[in-house]
Amino acid sequence: MNNGTVLVTGAGGFIGHHLVSYLVAKGYRVRGVDIKKPEYAETQAHEFLLLDLRRWDNCLQAMNGVDEVYALAANMGGIGFIETYKADIVRDNTLINTHTLEAARTMGVKRLFYSSSACIYPMYLQNTPDVTPLKEEDAYPADPEDGYGWEKLYTERMCRHYREDYGLETRVARFHNIFGPLGTYDGGREKSPAAICRKIALAEDGGTIEVWGDGEQTRSYCYIDDCVEGIHRLMRSDYPHPLNIGQDRLITINQLVDMVAQIAGKTIYRQHDLPKPQGVRGRNSDNARCREVLGWEPQVSLEEGMAQTYHWIRGELIKAGRVKDEVLSAGY
Ligand code: NAD
Repeated sequence: MNNGTVLVTGAGGFIGHHLVSYLVAKGYRVRGVDIKKPEYAETQAHEFLLLDLRRWDNCLQAMNGVDEVYALAANMGGIGFIETYKADIVRDNTLINTHTLEAARTMGVKRLFYSSSACIYPMYLQNTPDVTPLKEEDAYPADPEDGYGWEKLYTERMCRHYREDYGLETRVARFHNIFGPLGTYDGGREKSPAAICRKIALAEDGGTIEVWGDGEQTRSYCYIDDCVEGIHRLMRSDYPHPLNIGQDRLITINQLVDMVAQIAGKTIYRQHDLPKPQGVRGRNSDNARCREVLGWEPQVSLEEGMAQTYHWIRGELIKAGRVKDEVLSAGY
């Protein structure tokens, strides 16, 4: 099987690492590029280059001999990170994405996938926990997340211009809270599902964990296997406009904590830290367009995905000597 040579940027990161494994299994020859190797498991890429894609010459090198590009490289993190490091984020991601698109054009790449985000949706539509699911056309009039979201929205538009003016086929997904094993769970860049799993794995039965905000903010969460499946389906489709890739099941952070506590088999109390950043009040994905365009939508239940994620994070904490191994659950 040889489906051609593809480049995955951000291949040392969470989604990029999983995408590399998926594409290798599909018969692509895969080159991964990142400033770091994957932290938790060996890459399956045929070739892995350590390159800083903020630099133009490195983008040209990364693109050499490549048919298609999956552009996932970004300086990013959870809500605490993106609300604190806005200048770093917009500078780095503007350089990465502008150079990636222009190098793809220069080197004759045929098709490019760009990973946008639900953070591009207007803040004024996300003021209530009981939020109306976000449709693709809701993006305008624009009022995205400050910093990170504006850069994503602008790069979506760059993708459209490159497609219309230069014939580079671009595909754009707006991810809604992707989670799963092999994702960052510590250090400040982690997202809420991983942070909750880590806190509960470290807590005693009957213990208390800190929850950012009042915990009544709502989100939907999409498991990583669905995300990479959706990326590939969108890339192979002829749909050129931004498309949601996410689950449409809304849950509060408090409910998510309770779900993980149940998976862990622990009684866990919540202490709310109100001044901590909590992002928008509510955010959900409308999947009508996804179903229509891809004939598919994410499948994995939140319970199943969170169980896989919790047990993986707990296993990592055991390996690191931070959790005792006395009650390793069967099957993990
Ligand atoms: P991640 O942080 O795990 O992966 C991003 C990777 O990009 C990292 O490995 C990082 O080292 C790499 N990178 C950063 N700067 C680089 C540079 N200068 N040169 C080369 N590589 C560089 O994040 P992720 O969760 O895997 O996200 C992948 C993409 O999806 C990102 O573009 C992100 O903005 C987008 N996204 C993710 C989510 C989510 O829920 N995870 C939601 C919306 C959008």
